[in-house]
Amino acid sequence: MPDARLLYAEPDGTLLEHPRLRPAGLSFNALAREPLWLPLPAGATLCQLPGCTAQGIDAQGKVRKMRPGMDLAVGALLPTGYARQLLPAYEKVPGTAHLPLFGYTAVAAVDGEICAAYTPIDAPGSWDPASYNTEALRGLVGARLAAAPDDPLLAQLGVCALDYGCYTAQNIFYERWEGALPASPTCSAQCVGCISEQLGEVPSPQIRLSVAPSAEQLADLAVAHLNGGPNRIISFGQGCEGDPLNRWRALARTVRLVRDRLPADHPHGGYINMNTNGWHTRGLAEIVEAGLQRIRVSLFSAIDEHYSAYYKPRGYSFADVRRSIRLCSDAGVWVALNLLTFPGYTDCEGEMDALLELIATEGVHEVQVRTLNIDREMLRESVPEPCGRERGIPHFLDVLRASGVRVATHAWVQPDPIAVEL
Ligand code: SF4
Repeated sequence: MPDARLLYAEPDGTLLEHPRLRPAGLSFNALAREPLWLPLPAGATLCQLPGCTAQGIDAQGKVRKMRPGMDLAVGALLPTGYARQLLPAYEKVPGTAHLPLFGYTAVAAVDGEICAAYTPIDAPGSWDPASYNTEALRGLVGARLAAAPDDPLLAQLGVCALDYGCYTAQNIFYERWEGALPASPTCSAQCVGCISEQLGEVPSPQIRLSVAPSAEQLADLAVAHLNGGPNRIISFGQGCEGDPLNRWRALARTVRLVRDRLPADHPHGGYINMNTNGWHTRGLAEIVEAGLQRIRVSLFSAIDEHYSAYYKPRGYSFADVRRSIRLCSDAGVWVALNLLTFPGYTDCEGEMDALLELIATEGVHEVQVRTLNIDREMLRESVPEPCGRERGIPHFLDVLRASGVRVATHAWVQPDPIAVEL
């Protein structure tokens, strides 16, 4: 067994390796020992968890809590391409606020090397962190905004690219791959872990879009992006907005305008994608009719009660979401799920059964495994207990792959040769 040691941090950020205690990990309901540790992947970052006292395992197998508030738990934030297996093991000092919305992953020192508890899913490809936030970016954004000083959509994307570090926004300025097309200031849900609008104490990582771009503005940017090279994607439904289906009429018009100017079978036709919670089936039907080619539907649980507890739907139900998925698969649209995974929840037997039933019944083609960025206690306070026995994320991924659905962490893009000087 590799010589794994607990990693913890002092309040000033000093990272320390414990000489005796072994590391552990947390899931929704349990403390797990001895997960599979793999070297920290490129692009991952380490962080300390304020108010979270580190816990380790002693030689007798007992859980040992370290000095409250002094010896802090440490976690890794993983890039695209990996599925988190466990969170760091900690116990919160009473009164500790919920942690910011990140995907904290358990870490350890294994034979002196920093490792984390994850399962590799796919190569980052066009989502490789090394391709983003380059020195050239600020200049590219500045030049594009100077050329269109009155374009509110580009101005928003400039903020997203430089302040939020959003990859799909940056691709608009790098002129490649999957580009962002945010459109909706409002949403029909109020997700517990919403990254653009939080009503409680936890800050949202992004500030929600305040202006609704016109169909003409959206179409102009879409055509400019798609027509710049082969196999590009333009995506409605970004982290900085509500849900695009709240503007289904404007988006149906946008897609028609785009396809009038750039037919799908044009060498640079590319793909039109929508990331959505899938709430408005009739509106979605209009957008599919106009030429939508891909959809990615957000999902925390395929069990109605658990879905509703997380999404807090307003004016729709989980049955509407299922109808939307069905409508798209019947229409030949590529259907992906944006599965918000949480160890000890997603991998429970009842949750897995419900997910597999939804995939088979409604015709899902792909599951994008996404780490749910949320404080563990905040989630536990917000959703019911998961259904069935916890089986572990590696087992869950095996079951998912065995179902025949494509398992990935991001949309597939055929990278065209990099034209821009990075
Ligand atoms: S569907 Fe998206 S925008 Fe709407 S509340 Fe959920 S995370 Fe936020």
